[in-house]
Amino acid sequence: MTSGAPYETDPTYQMAVKQLKEAAQILGLPDDVVEVLRHPERVLQVKIPVKLDNGKIAVFIGWRSQHNSALGPYKGGIRYHPNVTMGEVVSLSMWMTWKNALAGIPYGGGKGGVKVDPKKLSQRELEELSRKYFAAIADIVGEDIDIPAPDVYTNPQIMAWYFDEYSKIKRYPAWGVVTAKPPLVGGLHVREISTGYGVALVAREAAKILWGTVEGKTVAVQGFGNVGRYAAKYLAEWGAKIVAVSDSKGGIYNSKGLDVAKLFEVKDKTGSVVNYPDVEKKISNEELLELDVDILVPAAIENVITEKNADRIKAKIISEGANGPTTPEADKILHKKGTIVIPDILANAGGVTMSWIEWSHNRMGCWLTEEEALSRLDKKMTHNFHEVYNEWQKKYSDYPMRAAAYVIAVDRVVRAMKLRGWI
Ligand code: NAD
Repeated sequence: MTSGAPYETDPTYQMAVKQLKEAAQILGLPDDVVEVLRHPERVLQVKIPVKLDNGKIAVFIGWRSQHNSALGPYKGGIRYHPNVTMGEVVSLSMWMTWKNALAGIPYGGGKGGVKVDPKKLSQRELEELSRKYFAAIADIVGEDIDIPAPDVYTNPQIMAWYFDEYSKIKRYPAWGVVTAKPPLVGGLHVREISTGYGVALVAREAAKILWGTVEGKTVAVQGFGNVGRYAAKYLAEWGAKIVAVSDSKGGIYNSKGLDVAKLFEVKDKTGSVVNYPDVEKKISNEELLELDVDILVPAAIENVITEKNADRIKAKIISEGANGPTTPEADKILHKKGTIVIPDILANAGGVTMSWIEWSHNRMGCWLTEEEALSRLDKKMTHNFHEVYNEWQKKYSDYPMRAAAYVIAVDRVVRAMKLRGWI
């Protein structure tokens, strides 16, 4: 049944609802509860007029969607992109509800977006856009209400502008109103590495279950960007052997192992890992996925593991750094083969979990050291992985781990709604 809400016809939203319905079916949730869950609690649309450097005014449209607050204040990033739609923002806010619930952090789900190509704006225009957007949503955000963070094409500098604008409006320094701020205004140096670190942490824990240790295990990483490079760095530090990496220009393989520090240097200096000097052979991104390795980390783009190649994938553990690298059909094939696919919603939650660490310490007025922050992330993600893994094995082992993760997340939100008397 349609409600007439403008986001309902959006294909991304329809996919998010399909995913919710699948989890609801496994849980045996009644239709009326699904109806409550599928709609955001609030979506605010705002107009952002920006005076351009050429003297003309350009009007941009932005949204903030607050999907569910049963477990705490809404939390989720803000993206700047020319193709952002209200439907996309609403779907992503629903996805954040499940991700935060699964991460065991005291947040609901939110997401924001502005339909703009930020590359076409000067730094001054970008600052005006950011301040005006945040001022326009200031009434519905706050440390205990809704806590934004960066997403596609937004960054710590933009978070610093948001923090400053909100603090000016409220007339106090509101450190906890956004996360992933620059360290001088309450952020953490380690925010940048936290997603990749988390991807490595859950792979390490899965390796302990299968083999007792991650030491000596071989690893292939697709995409040597922000997520992939730190996943490789930490897995190597714990004794795993990184035998293959790639980026958009192609991949490299060396059975004796690749030096991660050298890979960082080559990637930063030349723009691609393919220029790494000591390789046994160059490989394609498709070949990398099918290598005979113990652990595979897809950390580049979506839909790379499909029904076409799933059967040929030899890794026993796949830790999803990227969002959506495995299609639902491939997920089923890999589950049948006994591959542990640690789903994106669990494996790449290191960023939002680090945001929670930043926020909780902002609120206490004490700033953490890098070691303290990383050790907290390690404890939290290790705990989360085993909690989800055990519940999957105990109750939902007929399904891929991803289905179990969604079911666990939806169930947590539903139970909180029941306790609060909402349903
Ligand atoms: P990034 O831009 O820093 O890195 C992406 C890397 O992938 C680059 O090295 C690029 O060359 C490579 N790449 C691009 N197309 C490729 C292709 N077709 N085949 C192989 N490699 C290719 O991005 P990132 O921040 O590392 O994000 C990677 C993925 O992780 C994305 O799916 C993103 O949504 C997801 N993710 C990122 C974060 C985060 O905190 N950065 C958090 C959650 C999820």
